[in-house]
Amino acid sequence: MEPSVKVSDKTFRPYLSEEQILTEVRRVAARISEDLKDEHPLFVCVLNGAFIFAADLFRMITIPDAEITFIRMKSYVGTETTGKVKTIAGLHESVVDRTVVVVEDIVDSGYTMERLVHQLKDDLGAKDVRVAVLLNKPNARKVDNLKIDYCCLEIPNDFIVGYGLDYNEQGRNLKDIYVVED
Ligand code: 5GP
Ligand code: MG
Repeated sequence: MEPSVKVSDKTFRPYLSEEQILTEVRRVAARISEDLKDEHPLFVCVLNGAFIFAADLFRMITIPDAEITFIRMKSYVGTETTGKVKTIAGLHESVVDRTVVVVEDIVDSGYTMERLVHQLKDDLGAKDVRVAVLLNKPNARKVDNLKIDYCCLEIPNDFIVGYGLDYNEQGRNLKDIYVVED
């Protein structure tokens, strides 16, 4: 692991090694593989940030008929007081009556995930929606009752990059995770 790295205009220091991350991804993959072995699950990777996590996680899933697809959450300027409304872009598969595993890099306020789970379940008719995240920041939560079924690591309220996560679109290719220096 590099002692510290410069990404765009900020300096970041080492936080979680690739080895630590992969140990937790392996643990979560084993749980999901056991829990959903009879479910023909559809994994839904939320781009861009989750692409590396999803690639590692999905290769560790041992369910033979597991499938994966990729979406983005698209922000719109709402006409109502809620401000920004996010909708799913790029989901071409039907999720009706299917078990879906949302694969996300990090849950911060929880707004993105709450919206996504609601849309998959209530608008698109998924049977069961499970949430698998690489990182969770419980102290940043702004929504109530967001259930995270599978979480690799809980972290404090710091800004991190690497392993798919960006700062100004850079730093995604770092193998380890780094935290911003204050
Ligand atoms: P939420 O809707 O939960 O507030 O936002 C989640 C999204 O914010 C994540 O999918 C991610 O794109 C971004 N995000 C939140 N915290 C961090 C962080 O520490 N680093 C990076 N790179 N992105 C973050
Ligand atoms: Mg994300």
